[in-house]
Amino acid sequence: MTKKDKKQNTSYNSTDIAMSVVKSVPKSDFVSFVRKYLVVEGLPCSRHCDKPTHYSSLMEDRSKLVGAYVCPDNYVSRITYFEFNNDDLNWFKSFIRGELDGGNLIRDKDFRLATRHGWELGGSAESEIQSFSDSSKGVKEYYWTFYPKDNEEKKRGNFLCETCGKLFSQSLTSKNKVCQRH
Ligand SMILES: [Zn+2]
Ligand SMILES: [Zn+2]
Repeated sequence: MTKKDKKQNTSYNSTDIAMSVVKSVPKSDFVSFVRKYLVVEGLPCSRHCDKPTHYSSLMEDRSKLVGAYVCPDNYVSRITYFEFNNDDLNWFKSFIRGELDGGNLIRDKDFRLATRHGWELGGSAESEIQSFSDSSKGVKEYYWTFYPKDNEEKKRGNFLCETCGKLFSQSLTSKNKVCQRH
C-alpha cells in the first residue's frame, strides 16, 4: 500500500462515518417537514358533513407517515401516505386493505398521487426541503379517497374506530364510532 492509498482509505472512512450520521437525521426531518407543511388541520369534511376534520396518524416511523382526515363523527374523508426517498404505492394499498374490513370498497383507481413542491407550501419550506430531498423533485403525497360507484355504495362510508384505531365501513348516517370487531 502506497502512502497515497492509505490517505485515500482514511478519507473514505471519515466520509462513511459522516454519511451514516447524516442519513439517520433526514428521515425524521422528513416526517417533521410533512407534519409542518403537508398535514392540515380543520379542512371541512367532504361527502359526509362540513364539520372541520382533524388529522389522525395511522402509522408513523422515522421515514413514513400515514394518516386519516377524520371528522367529529369519525368519518374518514381521505387517507394520505408519505415516505422518505420511496414511493411504494403497493405497500400503501395493502396497508389500507389491511386496516379496512371489507376491502372491496378499496379500488386501485381511487389512489392518487400529488407532487408537492417547496415553493407552493410557503414559509421556509423551499429551503427545508433541501435538507432531505432534491427540491426540484418535491415530496410525493399519495392519497386515497373513497368514491362510491353506485347508489348502494353512496349510502356507506368509512369510519375510524375509536376503540382499536382501525377503519370500518357502515351506513353514512350512523353515529356509531366503534367497529364490528368489538
Ligand atoms: Zn363528516
Ligand atoms: Zn375497532
